[in-house]
Amino acid sequence: MVFEQLFDETSSTLTYIIGDAVSGEAAIFDPVEEQLERDLAALNRLGLKLKYTVETHAHADHITSAGVLRQRTGAKAAAPFNCGVTPADIHLEESSTLKLGAEIIRVLETPGHTAGSVCYLWRDLVLTGDTLFIGGCGRADFQGGDAGELYDSITQKLFTLPDETRVYPGHDYKRNRVSTIGEQKRTNPRLAGKSRAEFIALMGALNLPKPKLIDVAVPANRNLGLPHEA
Ligand code: FE
Repeated sequence: MVFEQLFDETSSTLTYIIGDAVSGEAAIFDPVEEQLERDLAALNRLGLKLKYTVETHAHADHITSAGVLRQRTGAKAAAPFNCGVTPADIHLEESSTLKLGAEIIRVLETPGHTAGSVCYLWRDLVLTGDTLFIGGCGRADFQGGDAGELYDSITQKLFTLPDETRVYPGHDYKRNRVSTIGEQKRTNPRLAGKSRAEFIALMGALNLPKPKLIDVAVPANRNLGLPHEA
């Protein structure tokens, strides 16, 4: 098995490659437009053939390279069913699976950051997208986001995974790279010891500015990052 974490400085996005060394099949999660050549070089270096591009949600802060990767590699584009990514080849729902040789990646629907957000469970790790960050979580104030749903997704789904499950988030702004479910249960300041009502109040008081790219990025990402109908 192959697992690689990649980082985009501009958007602080963490992109992941999961590969099956036996079949040579790979999937890339949340690839960033500006990192296209880096990601193709990484796949080449790892000796992998891209089978899927995969999104955790329709991003507001960067544009995906999924559509271009599909054109360049022949990969299938997978996106969560509820994210409105119409031209995707595969629309993922709860318990959908992606197979790479004998490796199976399972979808967990985790609405809250956006209505369609999902996480991906593989072996002993979970790619949490913007649902759960290390010491934080994604905002819940646009694209059908809902703080109560986010709390439920984290506490009733992610936090029921074994404590030793490794957590790989979709962004990190503080140079963290990996945590565990157990550590986040104990130490995440947004969640540890917080009731649902306290979490909703905390999220409602964040007063974050509108993401700079949202009006461009969300429509682009619903089209796999391509400027015209894919
Ligand atoms: Fe996001």
